[in-house]
Amino acid sequence: QNNGRVYNFSAGPSMLPLEVMENVAKELTNYKGCGQSVMEMSHRSKEFQAIIDEADKNLRTLMNIPENYKVLFLQGGGTLQFSMVPMNLLRKSGKADYLVTGAWAKKAAAEAKKFGDIKIVASSEEAIFSYIPQVKREDFREDADYVHITFNNTIYGTHFGYIPDTGDIPLVADMSSCILSEEIDVSKFGLIYAGAQKNIAPAGVTIVIIREDLIGFAAKEIPTYLDYKVHAENGSMYNTPPCFTIYVAGEVFSHILKNGGIPPLHQLDVEKADKLYKYIDESKLYSCPVQEDSRSLMNVVFVTGDADLDKKFVAEAKAKGLVNLGGHRSIGGMRASIYNAMPMEGVETLIAFMKAFEAENVK
Ligand code: PLP
Repeated sequence: QNNGRVYNFSAGPSMLPLEVMENVAKELTNYKGCGQSVMEMSHRSKEFQAIIDEADKNLRTLMNIPENYKVLFLQGGGTLQFSMVPMNLLRKSGKADYLVTGAWAKKAAAEAKKFGDIKIVASSEEAIFSYIPQVKREDFREDADYVHITFNNTIYGTHFGYIPDTGDIPLVADMSSCILSEEIDVSKFGLIYAGAQKNIAPAGVTIVIIREDLIGFAAKEIPTYLDYKVHAENGSMYNTPPCFTIYVAGEVFSHILKNGGIPPLHQLDVEKADKLYKYIDESKLYSCPVQEDSRSLMNVVFVTGDADLDKKFVAEAKAKGLVNLGGHRSIGGMRASIYNAMPMEGVETLIAFMKAFEAENVK
């Protein structure tokens, strides 16, 4: 099955396109005949400059990123953005409004509270984050410096089915677990960030897409590395960037472009998720706790309603080469993360296993 590889349903790091990894393997020790690996290459070399420029260009094409936005390749994961965003964007009133739709959103808001006046304008915590609240322009404070949302909630399997209208207030979105899975109008956002380790590359790089007029407001006392301006002015090379991860990210971007860009990928993501949700909704054993209009295409959460049976499911699936199906350690149950690189056959193999498990365990 799958060239001797398991189907990895991990929420991240997760599967990468096999073709990309095979190409990377081919040029691992001698990149395009230059006699060295990208792992060994100076970030100041012309070869690496070409790699990062190409990655930047291809991401811009893929996401249709407007000219007045900078793409930054940073380190520190989505987690460091929880701090960098308030440190840089609390630039006038010191106020920001957050939507709390899951554990990562909650962490982002908690971190921001260290730096300013943070208001939680909506939360679905009372319903164990099983839906995305609807918000309107009037819900936000007139003078808020920005509004923060988590576009896809990796742990609870929810996704924003709409882009909140924030008027002139810049909208900041954590897209760690959904970037490149759908076409997005970047101009509706002031800043988008995403850790690479789900839909882009191995862990190690965080992509930040920031509108230029939001750059340059960090307080003087903040550490140099945490100022977006420093990275924007230095082409993401103020210090040594995560070169190898940026290279793989660039390979993934050009692979997606070669295959028609985001629309066909999105189409496949919809087909994979629809198939899995449909089976779960029809089954007698499994159920999905997420409200239908809020379901994520990337992270499909389901339970049997019996914690011991859930554990048995995860263990037996693993033995069949379907790995990392356990829900996040905070909520249990099951979660199938079916990012872009998960082939349809992976989802079909999972459903076949679920059917067999159901037949055995529902008397
Ligand atoms: N935001 C979301 C939506 C996530 O899913 C995660 C991790 O899974 C994070 C942030 C934290 O990212 P990192 O581990 O890259 O710091």
